[in-house]
Amino acid sequence: MSELLNVEDIFASKVFTVAKMRERLPKKVFQEVTRVMEHGGELSMATADVVAKAMKDWAVENGATHYTHWFQPLTGITAEKHDSFVAHPDSEGKMIMEFSGKELIKGEPDASSFPSGGLRATFEARGYTAWDITSPAFLKESGCGTILCIPTAFCSYTGEALDKKTPLLRSMEALSEQALRIVRLFGNTGATKVTASVGPEQEYFLVDKDLYFQRKDLMFAGRTLFGAPAPKGQEMEDHYFGVIRERVGAYMKDLNVELWKLGVTAKTQHNEVAPAQHELAPIYETANIAVDHNQLVMEAMKRVAEKHDMRCLLHEKPYAGVNGSGKHNNWSITTDNGVNLLEPGDTPNKNIQFLLVLACIMKAVDTHADLLRQSASDVGNDHRLGANEAPPAIISIFLGEQLEDVVKQLIETGDASSVKQGGKLETGVSTLPDLVKDATDRNRTSPFAFTGNKFEFRMVGSADSIASPNTTLNAIVAEAFSEAADVLEKADDFDVAVHDLIKKYMSEHQRIVFNGNGYSDEWVAEAERRGLPNIKSMIEAASTLTTDKAVKLFEKFGIFTKVELESREEIIYETYAKTINIEALTMIDMAGKDIIPAVAAYTGELANTVLAVKEAGATGASQADLLVEVDGLLAEARKALKTLEAETAKAAAMEDVKAQAFYYKDSVKVAMEALRTPVDKLEMLVDSSVWPMPTYGELMFEV
Ligand code: ADP
Ligand code: MG
Repeated sequence: MSELLNVEDIFASKVFTVAKMRERLPKKVFQEVTRVMEHGGELSMATADVVAKAMKDWAVENGATHYTHWFQPLTGITAEKHDSFVAHPDSEGKMIMEFSGKELIKGEPDASSFPSGGLRATFEARGYTAWDITSPAFLKESGCGTILCIPTAFCSYTGEALDKKTPLLRSMEALSEQALRIVRLFGNTGATKVTASVGPEQEYFLVDKDLYFQRKDLMFAGRTLFGAPAPKGQEMEDHYFGVIRERVGAYMKDLNVELWKLGVTAKTQHNEVAPAQHELAPIYETANIAVDHNQLVMEAMKRVAEKHDMRCLLHEKPYAGVNGSGKHNNWSITTDNGVNLLEPGDTPNKNIQFLLVLACIMKAVDTHADLLRQSASDVGNDHRLGANEAPPAIISIFLGEQLEDVVKQLIETGDASSVKQGGKLETGVSTLPDLVKDATDRNRTSPFAFTGNKFEFRMVGSADSIASPNTTLNAIVAEAFSEAADVLEKADDFDVAVHDLIKKYMSEHQRIVFNGNGYSDEWVAEAERRGLPNIKSMIEAASTLTTDKAVKLFEKFGIFTKVELESREEIIYETYAKTINIEALTMIDMAGKDIIPAVAAYTGELANTVLAVKEAGATGASQADLLVEVDGLLAEARKALKTLEAETAKAAAMEDVKAQAFYYKDSVKVAMEALRTPVDKLEMLVDSSVWPMPTYGELMFEV
């Protein structure tokens, strides 16, 4: 019998929620805190002291000994430095745990060892963390005990953002301000704020711990760098939504409990397409909190896997030949008086506010397709976007039949008089209910799809923070709203002006709409004809951050300065070069120390076998054939290894980061592939008992 689980009781038990603040703070203090949470501004130091004490008391009651400013540097993961609540003992040696408002609001980690893209020199290392009051503090339990985590933004001494949260918060404010201008035009004067909401679906792989530790590539690179395909992959389509195995089920259960305690609304779980691949989706929430929670989801996935003697792989492409992992970033915008700007209603053709918002989004995505693509790039995602896998690297918007038809009518006649409806789906069985059909079918191949009352941005990598995609989305849509509001606020006849503007934007940007198969070669050709960018790799996308267009956009809304953008571009090159360097060195290590010696020993055995068989009176021809084949591949592998060593050394010695990153992509990666090919062939020829590491079959099926 499993123990009874009361989700309502455990939910957010490790979070310093608004409800707990209401309970523990004096009324006036509570009101000040919630006001700042909702509408910005600064807490007085006296208030901060009271909040800090209440937070500390709650944390200590729950076993906490330390606190940390939890932040998101440009490594894509989170960072924390623990400080205990221990204070100076009094004259009698008694210690009272302390935590002040100042310590809550501001921290000062050394910034020199985080990526800064040239913004910070090590001799000027000061960095600050600042409390993000909009994201609740929480308790993290680990080997270190219980730590109070305070979500913070991370900036340099000179005020540049060194993290992912600061620009995200800036973009949310920009979007709110510009979206308010739009809804006011339509008479909504009650709204005081517009919020971007995000629900990220997170894919991941699980692998047995013992097997994981026998694979240096998984340990160092997070993905396999060698590996012949298993006899069975995903071709039977039997894993997707398949029955969840006991061990994986136990893992999912524990993971949910961990996340619920942290206030993460883990909602959906299922097996994904590839063997040993799974997905978890929470319920959507404010973008900023969704970003923090997605980091917690990724951390918990790894931590809980360890408890179950497994490892969780978040890499976008752990195994060649089967699907990789991504995140679907579901995004919508809602006013604080409850209007989702992306809700079309039953008659979208008559919903002028919705049509204007849609037209603005078409304009934003078309104008900044390059930036949106950039925002979803990381090293691992290069194996998916634009490679042999979904989604394509070309940004386009899927609207679905109903909206596409409305847009078409608007462009052609300036008026959309009719709207396609979904109707009924007849099941044809008298005992089954007939179903009400959506007006639009789904399209799985589109990178940016309208799905009912939200857009689903499907390019994001599984290991990456979702901060950048949401910062970019917020920013580009804020710009389109602002330009539309500039025109409409001045219009003499609003109805005519808004009608004309919708038609203009939709006509000018219709090339971004594509409802067909995004995976096909025809689309690649068609997109090129339409002039849509097809940016194939992370480092080719990096320079989109510093075009005049991008700088103008981000500076206009105070989201990034030019200097911040330049530093981020540089970090992309650095990150890419370092990552490929690690992968190359890992391959060199595995091939040189494990694979080639094992195969060489095997050829020795084979040679002896050939001689013994001949001596025994048989021809030994097959054994000799095998020996020649293995020997040939061994020679090819050795030669490829030498080339890879030389190319990696050459790349590592390069000074210019951009040139270096491109050298890793164009030369080192090619040399890596050239080594992998003969090694994967050898794996298929050599006695399985001498192969020095677990195979794809074992890694993916022994979970
Ligand atoms: P799929 O069918 O694409 O796999 P899921 O149901 O697994 O969809 O996940 C959909 C995600 O979208 C969930 O995280 C859900 O909370 C989120 N979502 C639903 N409505 C909205 C909305 N209005 N804004 C943002 N996200 C939303
Ligand atoms: Mg989805």
